[in-house]
Amino acid sequence: MTLIESLLDLLLPSRCAECSRPPSVYCEDCLSRHTFHTVARANKIAKPGIALTLLDERVANAISAFKEQNQFAIARSMVDALLPANPFGKIDLVVAVPSIASSFKKRGFVPAQIIADRVSGRWGMPGSKSAMRFVRQVEDQAALKFGQRQTNLVDSMVAVASLSRKRVLLVDDVVTTGSTLTEACRAATSAGAEVVGFVVLAETLRRNEPSAHPAVSQVEP
Ligand SMILES: [Zn+2]
Repeated sequence: MTLIESLLDLLLPSRCAECSRPPSVYCEDCLSRHTFHTVARANKIAKPGIALTLLDERVANAISAFKEQNQFAIARSMVDALLPANPFGKIDLVVAVPSIASSFKKRGFVPAQIIADRVSGRWGMPGSKSAMRFVRQVEDQAALKFGQRQTNLVDSMVAVASLSRKRVLLVDDVVTTGSTLTEACRAATSAGAEVVGFVVLAETLRRNEPSAHPAVSQVEP
């Protein structure tokens, strides 16, 4: 936490991102309704993953406040309260999925990096800054239909940090179709990394989509 963030925390009364009650950014009552689960239904990603919770309306509002109102403490509270013990074994580098250029320009930070920093801190694993970036312009996935999401990001990312022979954990805020994490996984693998899995704050549950990747309990230690 930076000095300015610490000062803001002192000056501004905090309210829970879900129920709006003071004094914390995420109260224990609201956090306690979430239970850790694996990403059992996100398609495409043939990697084990952890979603800290499901993306219901209240969680969507909380994540929106984190991303659009710079309330980093919301994401950090979710990680602190909901991240289980590391099931992936040795991790050489925790890598945040990059933001698209227009989002970074608007926000001035990469939400996934805030989460990745907290995950690497909690698990005592090395983190990286800006290990990946986009190599071409892409559309905001959230604005696209399901079919368009499948092609928008293909071959769009590249690793800019040395990932060769490293066991890499990918981190993002939300997994929906899995297209973003799939592309990040491809780019990291192309750079020589072994992607061990991923962590996201929340998973969007879609009906009738078969699971395409192993449960986290199947991760080898
Ligand atoms: Zn609350």
